[in-house]
Amino acid sequence: MRPNITPEAINAVLHDPDPVKLEALAQDARRLTLGHFGKAIGLYTPLYLSNYCTSHCTYCGFHNRRKITRVKLTPAQMDAEMRAIARTGVQNILLLTGESPQATPVGYLKDAVTLAKKYFQGISLEVFPMTENDYRTLYLAGADGVTVYQETYDRSRYSEVHLAGQKRDYAFRYGAPERIAKAGMRQISLGILLGLGPLAQDLSALYNHLRGLEKKFPGVEYSLSFPRLRTIKAKALAPNDVDDATFVKILCLTRALFPHTGINLSTRETPTMRNRLMGLCVTKVSIGSRTTVGGYNDTTAADPQFDIADDRSAADTIAYLKAHGIDPVFTDWRRIENT
Ligand code: SF4
Repeated sequence: MRPNITPEAINAVLHDPDPVKLEALAQDARRLTLGHFGKAIGLYTPLYLSNYCTSHCTYCGFHNRRKITRVKLTPAQMDAEMRAIARTGVQNILLLTGESPQATPVGYLKDAVTLAKKYFQGISLEVFPMTENDYRTLYLAGADGVTVYQETYDRSRYSEVHLAGQKRDYAFRYGAPERIAKAGMRQISLGILLGLGPLAQDLSALYNHLRGLEKKFPGVEYSLSFPRLRTIKAKALAPNDVDDATFVKILCLTRALFPHTGINLSTRETPTMRNRLMGLCVTKVSIGSRTTVGGYNDTTAADPQFDIADDRSAADTIAYLKAHGIDPVFTDWRRIENT
């Protein structure tokens, strides 16, 4: 049995000031990434279906106490948004909502998945944690992946920042990946929100959560994400104290520990940071993203979940990858009927 990855071991890497060792870690990360994934980066685009949310997470632009205009896409609006994304060539879509089973019940999500099949090969969801049966309903409708971040594994910090709604239920969220795997989904993404909880402890808990899942459900394709806290309309709802050097170390350490696991990177990060990490350890990136509901057809749509730092168009990011000898992968998966 592999030993647990302890916070002490993680801290030893994160706080090591030796630039030679950092360079060695980065070179290892690059070598492992090239060895397991080649010079290729998967592409996906997020689509916000709704910003209704009954939870109050102190760091999020959609939380239930914020006075923002609440909207959810109609089927016709979904179709228009999907069409706009599909025009960029991207074949993987991530469908997101706030956490409101009342405003966006499973039936609404099922309709969105069914519509997405018209345009996309890979359909993932980032929505409220649900029961195994509900996940199965969405799997049978055509979804193949789910993203569910624990945000922080520190229970007391978790309670401090999740003040209301279903998201207060730590255990139900923690158990979601198991239910997703049992429902038949092919891909599961886990993550923590960097800057929210105690860093080394959160990384240790995330790594060990993943190891437990890999052991129990070895057939699933896992990936990890490390979003950093961002501003919302230029205002910080919560501080971000994970600097760039630490962030790079975290991703390289993750690659060293999990050579086969995908690492995702969103447009929360700047073009400079994304360009650097796409050649080092990241294997999948979001491109051309909007974090507003309806943002692909109405660029004036007002209230984002968070501010984007890389606002390059999908075409510009694809051109960057090609110019640097990296293959943009629009899809590595041809849809089959889920049964
Ligand atoms: S993080 Fe999710 S659950 Fe929390 S307020 Fe934002 S949309 Fe709602």
